Amino acid sequence: MPPDTTYLPGTIQPMPDQVGLVDSARWKDSVWQQSVQLHFDSLDISYRPYEDQQRPSYPLPEGTMFLIVLAVLSLSAYLYIIRPSQRERQQKMVIRPRAPKDDSSQEIQFDQWLSRYNPYYNALPAEHKKRFLHRVQQFMLTKEFRFHSMVGEDYIPVLVSAAAVQLTFGLRNYRMDYFDVIHIMRKEYVLNINQETYYGHVSKNGIHVSWKKFMEGYDDYNDCINLGLHEMAHALQYDAYLGLEDHHDRYFKERLNEYAAEGRPVFRAMRQGLTYVMDEYALENFDEFWAVSVEMFFENPVTFREKLPNLYQEMCELLNQDPAEPGKLLNSELA
Ligand SMILES: [Zn+2]
Repeated sequence: MPPDTTYLPGTIQPMPDQVGLVDSARWKDSVWQQSVQLHFDSLDISYRPYEDQQRPSYPLPEGTMFLIVLAVLSLSAYLYIIRPSQRERQQKMVIRPRAPKDDSSQEIQFDQWLSRYNPYYNALPAEHKKRFLHRVQQFMLTKEFRFHSMVGEDYIPVLVSAAAVQLTFGLRNYRMDYFDVIHIMRKEYVLNINQETYYGHVSKNGIHVSWKKFMEGYDDYNDCINLGLHEMAHALQYDAYLGLEDHHDRYFKERLNEYAAEGRPVFRAMRQGLTYVMDEYALENFDEFWAVSVEMFFENPVTFREKLPNLYQEMCELLNQDPAEPGKLLNSELA
């Protein structure tokens, strides 16, 4: 971590070496600022390697030609039919996107998936859809997608990447280079470190989302609950404060500080019960306030703008987009 990195008070404050900050996404208490080390074998996920068939320790009965033929047939079936399909399934535990040979056919496929599952993408003007698809392709190329307790399917990395691209659509730097790996769990999972159950969290080991909860977030795009956007909001903070920095990142961090200046009084007022606009999970700490704000910003921008106009304006400037407007982008020179 660069020594000149500055942190918002109360936001990412990494401990030396072994930090994996854990975030609970609407599930029990946050374990913010605890110094924990995540090992994936410590998750409530187990891998069962293929176990070889045990050979009988005694000889086959003599003269049983039928059994021998049966054994040979079984072995052939295993070698040529069952084992290859198992290998194929195992390969799908990890997806490493590669640049396609044919860009346009991939774009058509991505467009179909995103039109079906991502309302933000679906509502974009045509010229922005092209830009969005390109960014999804580029984002995916920088990541490895690891699947836990589930078999990966090709559309899953596309939809998960789209949550990140949506959040950063107005920003010039959108790849979140700090992260190489995105972990997809079938559903909620338990970390052994504290026996707490999570729908998602972000740590230096990667971005983690439960697929079931991720899909629920986009299935109901008006309830201000969206796990994908929530975790990507945390990931964006990580990338801004811990990732490599360039001119645009510095500018983004300045705007992040301006957002914090506007947001903290609102956060304090919410904690004192003076105002209640967002989901109460925002009260956990200021980082959750940020992530929950992002969910509401995209899923109910009109109410957000009406109830908290100054904070809404800060978020528009921070992310250089206005989800309440059809064109979304504010300043195309910054994007
Ligand atoms: Zn969170």
